Amino acid sequence: MRQRHKPWADDFLKENEHIVIPNAIDNKGEWQSIFKNGHPIHIEVGTGKGQFLVGMARQHPEINFIGIEVSKSVIVSAAEKVLDSGVENLLLLNEDAADLREMFTENEIATIYLNFSDPWPKNRHEKRRLTYRTFLEQYKVVLDPKGKVIFKTDNRELFEYSLVSFNEFGMKLEEVNLDLHAIEDPLNVMTEYEEKFAAKGQVIYRSRASF
Ligand code: SAM
Repeated sequence: MRQRHKPWADDFLKENEHIVIPNAIDNKGEWQSIFKNGHPIHIEVGTGKGQFLVGMARQHPEINFIGIEVSKSVIVSAAEKVLDSGVENLLLLNEDAADLREMFTENEIATIYLNFSDPWPKNRHEKRRLTYRTFLEQYKVVLDPKGKVIFKTDNRELFEYSLVSFNEFGMKLEEVNLDLHAIEDPLNVMTEYEEKFAAKGQVIYRSRASF
């Protein structure tokens, strides 16, 4: 993702710690006490500039959302969107989601969204794909037993790889959509990447799976 250099990002994040929560590990098992409403928690790994989660937070006031984004300059853009939108059911974490078990306790999460995750096409980088089995092991721990992993991508190879990975892990595939935009779905909230790829005529894939 292209990033503008934002030297003021540290100051901005310091001023907006009510949105971009620092030290996520300190809140492991305590996220409900920040939202204070008992609503289920959905997270997105690799939130980018936040368009998807802001749209989802608007559409679903009955759900709490947490976006995790490793890039500081990118999460600043997401935080600006949260501020502009005024949504109160969305928090951001400027963290590397290498191990979600550090930030969330067992069963704390109801849904994990993976949107247009980096494909890591080289075989030797397979372990970096967010649908590699070691990531699925973490997702299984932090998700509640009925929890879902919802995955969207334009990358056919990553999609096929991920379906096989879910299947080999024993996950149940509840949806496999090979052309998400073939039928207009007013409830589908588009991500920045989704908009960009769809505008170029690329097919968008989506799956929903549970453990
Ligand atoms: N989800 C957005 C969308 O669909 O428009 C952004 C997609 S972009 C290809 C992937 C994003 O994931 C980047 O912003 C990148 O910084 C972030 N990312 C990659 N690995 C990550 C990790 N381990 N933890 C948190 N964010 C990560």
